[in-house]
Amino acid sequence: MAKVIFVILDGCGFDLAQECCGYLEHMAESGNAAKYCVRSQLPSMSRPLYATLLTGLPVSSHGIGNNMMSRKIETDSVFSLCSEANLETAAAAYYWMSELFQHGTFDHAAHRYQLTKAGNIHHGLYYFEDDYPDSHLFLDAEFLRRSFSPDFLLAHSMNIDHAGHVHGVSSMQRSLAAIKADAVLAALIPGWLASGAYVVVTADHGAGAHGLHGGNTPEQRTVPLYLLGSGIQTGVFVDHTLDQLWIAPYLCQMLNINAGREMRRPEVNIFAQ
Ligand SMILES: [Zn+2]
Repeated sequence: MAKVIFVILDGCGFDLAQECCGYLEHMAESGNAAKYCVRSQLPSMSRPLYATLLTGLPVSSHGIGNNMMSRKIETDSVFSLCSEANLETAAAAYYWMSELFQHGTFDHAAHRYQLTKAGNIHHGLYYFEDDYPDSHLFLDAEFLRRSFSPDFLLAHSMNIDHAGHVHGVSSMQRSLAAIKADAVLAALIPGWLASGAYVVVTADHGAGAHGLHGGNTPEQRTVPLYLLGSGIQTGVFVDHTLDQLWIAPYLCQMLNINAGREMRRPEVNIFAQ
């Protein structure tokens, strides 16, 4: 069984990652990672796709159809499946992750820090401002890793999406946010790999004109997937577009736990034979 660190770069479309994430691109180019295209589910909107990424289900099944639905999901998720398998979980993430998988409606004072084991996300550090620095977010995740040694750790950053909304899809600020996230990951990923973990980096959605998203265009739906860790078939496989519904079952495969009852079986093998 391996540990998994799951990085979601909110709003980082495929083209932006290719343009700005030079460390991740290097790891794929040099044969140390796999790189794929992923086609997001619809709507290409954050909260519905957080639910999809962690449950492997489409919106029509998990029911989170827009960003306003703050209820907790009761269906199988990677967090609940880990808990059932007695694996430790943790998340440094936007507060909507807490709402979906841990607490339901967020109580800012009570839920921001969760260091005592409870629920399906056993330990959590949640932020609620979209400009909370990614540099701090990734070190929140690293704090959880060093403190609790979780088997499954979610690190979910927001600055790329935020820069797109405020400054536009073609802005210097959006590119800079992606460059900065990649640079922080360049500092952390070697240690994560040395610990024996798989590292999975993807996004919920991209961005269309004006930096907005929600609809059905390639710019909004095409996101990157970088996979690192021993056991991964490395290389650049962008001719294979993966279904976003396969991310959760891939995570289960890496963790060596049973997939959720309703999760789809991935049609592309990502592991070395
Ligand atoms: Zn988003």
